Amino acid sequence: MLIVDIVKKHEPITSEEIAAKLNITRAALRPDLSILTMAGILEARPRVGYFYAGKTKSLISEKIKSIKVSEIKAVPVVIKEETSVYDAIVTLFLEDVGTLFVVQEDGSLCGVVSRKDLLKIAIGNADIKQVPVSVVMTRMPNLVTVTLEESAYDAARKIVEHQVDALPVIRPKQVDGKQKYEVVGKVTKTTITKLFVELGKD
Ligand code: ADP
Repeated sequence: MLIVDIVKKHEPITSEEIAAKLNITRAALRPDLSILTMAGILEARPRVGYFYAGKTKSLISEKIKSIKVSEIKAVPVVIKEETSVYDAIVTLFLEDVGTLFVVQEDGSLCGVVSRKDLLKIAIGNADIKQVPVSVVMTRMPNLVTVTLEESAYDAARKIVEHQVDALPVIRPKQVDGKQKYEVVGKVTKTTITKLFVELGKD
């Protein structure tokens, strides 16, 4: 379509300038411009002019899909499954995190324990110095995880879809012929928020 092509080529461009290029009046152009704006194809910025919005949208989506988890991952905090609920709570404070990843003796991922998992047991009558985190954690294979090769978008989508704060970044490994997963990082709501701020700076 001619109007979209003109905007793509000359953005930002005012309606007067578009009308002049098409050799028509601004009034004749107005209905088409309002349809294109309502459809989200063009974007109108007051006192600046029209932009091609389709391009802006696909640039953002291409960008967040091209950034890999390996580029944004943060350092995970891991504890052993025998760690007491009490020590896990202390670790939350010392490490200033909200989620802990639980590993077996061989270092492979077996669970995730969140703030509320710990709160839930702590407000009961349990002796939290005696209860191990393995009692309250969410276990494999119910964990939502990401790999280094997945995109920032995939990670953010999983956080939203599964309503969790943090995802362990895992690398598959074989231990005694069994499929296990090493924890090599984490992606949290904070990681995604930081990425959002970085992208906003561009
Ligand atoms: P909180 O419970 O502090 O609000 P989350 O929303 O992250 O924190 O956790 C909600 C529940 O989901 C908890 O029971 C927790 O064990 C579990 N959980 C947290 N992260 C994951 C994950 N990556 N995969 C599966 N379950 C998870």
